Amino acid sequence: MAEPQSKSHSLAVEMRGVNKWYGEFHVLKNINLRVEKGERIVICGPSGSGKSTMIRCINRLEEHQQGDIIVNGVTLTEDLKKIELIRRNVGMVFQHFNLFPHLTVLENCALAPIWVKKESRKQAEATAMKYLERVRIPEQAKKYPGQLSGGQQQRVAIARSLCMNPDVMLFDEPTSALDPEMIKEVLDVMIELAQEGMTMLCVTHEMGFAKTVANRVIFMDAGQIVEENEPHEFFNNPQHERTQLFLSQIL
Ligand code: ADP
Ligand code: MG
Repeated sequence: MAEPQSKSHSLAVEMRGVNKWYGEFHVLKNINLRVEKGERIVICGPSGSGKSTMIRCINRLEEHQQGDIIVNGVTLTEDLKKIELIRRNVGMVFQHFNLFPHLTVLENCALAPIWVKKESRKQAEATAMKYLERVRIPEQAKKYPGQLSGGQQQRVAIARSLCMNPDVMLFDEPTSALDPEMIKEVLDVMIELAQEGMTMLCVTHEMGFAKTVANRVIFMDAGQIVEENEPHEFFNNPQHERTQLFLSQIL
């Protein structure tokens, strides 16, 4: 896979000294992260370590209290226009798909392009079909999410994000709710996206995916980035005791 560019203007996401609290609970502790365009970052760590909170801060599904988050050169503030701009360009895929159950697959995909980007229905549906073909389920377009398998629903969720033509994709444990036989069909779509150069931040426990796709693996524990490295070093030569313990439990 091509190496990401390394010029400073090519930063997709930057977090500088980010802190966040849920009430009294200090959930993110001085997070510093620079993601170049084209990077594929895997974030792992124990349950409750702050992985979801960290990536949800990137598109303001959670609000941080200290530090700077800059996405494609836009600094996240209270400014709703900036939040909207960032959300348009940052796609997010969740563990539980979060499709609208009362809309067809095609309608799920076309909704945001019509309402947010003001595309015509015809144009939005054409784009939706293009991405449903890419995730290999165009024949499901007229069905409702409840009629699809989990793996198919997750591929719809990915197609729906891609319809907004995002610069960055965030994945929060996209395969954790799937039956084992469906994990591969979702990972295969993610691998293709990576090969096409998409900037990706993926919270996942799929270490095979991390080894083949990530250019960098980040380990979080107790709200901190404890260790990060390219995958070979990360898995073969973990430096921190907590990383070693985590890897010994999951590998
Ligand atoms: P991870 O994704 O690594 O499992 P999370 O980011 O979901 O971790 O959660 C980190 C910590 O913050 C956990 O202890 C969790 O219980 C707590 N937490 C998450 N969301 C909230 C919330 N909305 N209010 C209060 N505490 C929360
Ligand atoms: Mg989580």
